[in-house]
Amino acid sequence: MEVRTFPYRCYALISRRQIAANYHSVRAALGPAATVLGVVKANAYGHGAVEVSRVLVAEGAQWLAVSTVEEGVALRRAGLTVNILVMTGFLRYEWDALIAHSLTPVVHSLEDLAALATLAHSSSKPIDYHLKIDSGMHRLGTRADVTEILAAIQSARHANLTGLMTHLASAADYSTQQTDQQAAHFARIWEQLRAAGVHPTYVHMSATNAIAYGRNAPWLTMARPGHALYGYVSPARGEAPRPILSVQPALTWKAKILAVKEIPEGALVGYGGSFRAPHAMRIAVVAAGYADGVPHRLSNRGKVIAAGKLAPILGTVSMDLTTIDVSQAPALQPGDDVTLLGREGDASQDAQQMARQAGTISYSILCGIAGRVERVYV
Ligand SMILES: *Cc1c(COP(=O)(O)O)cnc(C)c1O
Repeated sequence: MEVRTFPYRCYALISRRQIAANYHSVRAALGPAATVLGVVKANAYGHGAVEVSRVLVAEGAQWLAVSTVEEGVALRRAGLTVNILVMTGFLRYEWDALIAHSLTPVVHSLEDLAALATLAHSSSKPIDYHLKIDSGMHRLGTRADVTEILAAIQSARHANLTGLMTHLASAADYSTQQTDQQAAHFARIWEQLRAAGVHPTYVHMSATNAIAYGRNAPWLTMARPGHALYGYVSPARGEAPRPILSVQPALTWKAKILAVKEIPEGALVGYGGSFRAPHAMRIAVVAAGYADGVPHRLSNRGKVIAAGKLAPILGTVSMDLTTIDVSQAPALQPGDDVTLLGREGDASQDAQQMARQAGTISYSILCGIAGRVERVYV
């Protein structure tokens, strides 16, 4: 991506073109019959929900997914008119907004389905919904048996079941049977509903990893990629097929150097003096800290890219600042950029690599990039 710099202390460059390319990679992997539901929850994993949604819609997406009613309302207010699925359901105080903004809720219990039916009746506006089955992740979704589900669907007369879904807990893990068991459970429920005359348009269970490793069964008519749109697929466990997605990170994260200094052997760096210089060193103080989303766990173990080389983090990451070793990059000056995520020449670091060093996951790194980090769209 760009080598240009921008006048921000800490900023994320987001490539619209890369998000579009990732979307098309997912599209191609799924084939023309499946609808892609672009997952833009949590501010599009830190990439900016409105901007990312506009890119996806411009590329042909007809469905977006968010976690909350509030996130859906924000997209509506930004002028997005495509279908928006609210994946974690709705609470009583969110009913009005759900209806007013024509959001499509995921219903994850039969009690919620009854509530939705009441709501649809009283607002005299039919409401479409997707029903979520808990097929063995034991998070959201109904565990009721098919007879109860059918009765609930049929008595919810003003609410239209347009989607049936479940969520997989271990799609990238080939050392367990959990995915097969979940898929079988879900297939059984769908078959029984179909036999009873219930035909939702959208049937879906696959997020990024299920798509990437080809778990998306042919009878599924929708898939819900998030991570892949931003350029990531989780590494597999066990004997996995090769991923069928070729996606690349869309986000580059940069920060300015605020100071460069020489320290003598034995100097202690940062809070707690947890780094002691083993010899004279040149260090730089970077304008990004844990308040920007740099994990505190990277203290004395993480790296950033400075002048095209990986530069170790020295001492503790503080709230607004991180200190790095630039002994190998004597030309760096205050005002220059370093790269936290991205590529400079041959050196690169992505969210998965940073996550490994911080003992976390790439999702958490991306979502952790703070609101005060300026987003720049290129
Ligand atoms: C977050 C989420 C997704 C997207 O998951 P990725 O792994 O980012 O593709 C899909 N479905 C549900 C229910 C989710 O919560």
